[in-house]
Amino acid sequence: MSDKKKLTTASGRPYVENEDTLSVGRRGPLLLEDYILHEKMAHFNRERIPERVVHAKGSGAYGTFTVTNDITKYTKAKIFSEVGKKTDLIARFSTVGGEKGSADTERDPRGFAIKFYTEDGNWDLVGNNTPVFFVKDPKKFSDFIHTQKRDPYTNMKSPTMMWDFWSLRPESLHQVTILMSDRGTPFGVRHMNGYGSHTFSLINKDDERVYVKFHFKTAQGIKNFTDEEAMEMRGKDPDFSQRDLMKSIEEGNYPKWNLKIQVMTEEQAQNYHINPFDLTKVWPHGDYPLIDVGVMELNRNPDNYFAEIEQLATSPAHIVDGIGFSPDKMLQGRLLSYPDAHRYRLGANYEQIPVNRCPFMTESNNYQRDGLMRIDGNQGRKPNYYPNSFDDIEIDESYKQVPPTVVDAEADWFDRNAPGEDDHYTQPGNLFRIMDNQAKTNLINNIVGAMSGIEGPKKEEITNRQLCHWFRADPQLGAGVAKGLDIEIDMKMFN
Ligand code: NDP
Repeated sequence: MSDKKKLTTASGRPYVENEDTLSVGRRGPLLLEDYILHEKMAHFNRERIPERVVHAKGSGAYGTFTVTNDITKYTKAKIFSEVGKKTDLIARFSTVGGEKGSADTERDPRGFAIKFYTEDGNWDLVGNNTPVFFVKDPKKFSDFIHTQKRDPYTNMKSPTMMWDFWSLRPESLHQVTILMSDRGTPFGVRHMNGYGSHTFSLINKDDERVYVKFHFKTAQGIKNFTDEEAMEMRGKDPDFSQRDLMKSIEEGNYPKWNLKIQVMTEEQAQNYHINPFDLTKVWPHGDYPLIDVGVMELNRNPDNYFAEIEQLATSPAHIVDGIGFSPDKMLQGRLLSYPDAHRYRLGANYEQIPVNRCPFMTESNNYQRDGLMRIDGNQGRKPNYYPNSFDDIEIDESYKQVPPTVVDAEADWFDRNAPGEDDHYTQPGNLFRIMDNQAKTNLINNIVGAMSGIEGPKKEEITNRQLCHWFRADPQLGAGVAKGLDIEIDMKMFN
């Protein structure tokens, strides 16, 4: 008797006829009763699940987070409870605009999503490799993303759409500046930083809240492709980033990131000259210095891409005791849209898929029932309503959340770019001014290359409108872009 496993059908029946289909006569037609043929073909036809509308192309790995510095004065989250504490995690990195089969060296922000498996449930930090974003109100998200996707007529990417939108909504300028810098084409994922991007809150054991920004600084050092190198790599190896991450983990060369936080009190948040909940702005380090927290190491490749990465469902809504939200409008929008996307792609019971399930949750203890692909026993005979007289589920009051702080009780469709909220220029200008000469030249050349793709009857209008934004960020930046685009400017205007 061989101890090898037997070939079986999906229902478990051992079978032999895996090569040829039952037919009438050696050269005759097939018989419908060979259901194994149907099973194989029908399952194959159903292999694809809806692709993520954004962040479709991604790769990921498992790892560990280790606390190196005590931040318990800010948070009671168990993941940070003591120096030396280790928490398992899975991380997924992705481009944003391209389809699942697109090259992972495109000029694009990179998703930087982590699921920490903590005792109090999974905590997901779902950010990017940039600390800011293109828009600050979620109502603009689908409009913006459409400009990064394919033109409805040509079915091709369109620099005209992109620059039209960006030039009409200069709140995007900060993110566009980072995107056009060499950090827009990172050398794989190991050499880039990650940011929680949004402002979140930390809550300590006395239920005191501070606001927080999360930064993961690469321990491998920043390394980028130039525009030409990235373009070459897209043709040579469209899966460069995925290959680089997998290979380095297979070789035992485990990538690491140092987690740091910036902290702001509620009082500081009310009085700071920058809106701390505006996702197009950073908190300058000079005002809010980085505080060390710990180290994330990635050290295990998933065994099955589909099961563990394609089905991985991270959401900024997944917080744990000691971590809370903020009034950041983009965060508030994502609290709805991420779980909604997962329910659409994976079904209402997506939290039961092994990679998404909290390993500390031995059984589900709530009143959610049924739905497609409920596979955990559906909580057996237990009551499915609350309150009831039969339960052994108790509500632990010590987990009561601190309610959100609301400063202004007036409701309106407030203009997010009203006076006081309309400085789209200082921070992109600051970034340009801290760059060395080579970085400045590359930024300008990358912008010129990208803006040269604007075409059609509105070419001049869109180009000039965007050029004004570059000038307002920094005259040297504007002049460099104008020169590269062969547009004459009277520089005396800026003296
Ligand atoms: P600092 O000089 O203290 O910080 C500059 C930051 O810029 C560093 O974190 C550095 O990251 C990062 N950086 C350098 N080059 C680039 C680039 N091409 N794209 C993105 N980030 C880059 O100054 P401030 O805190 O006053 O910020 C100045 C500007 O730096 C901001 O307006 C913003 O554009 C940018 N920035 C600021 C961050 C913040 O949280 N304050 C975070 C990231 C960017 P590293 O240390 O990894 O090299």
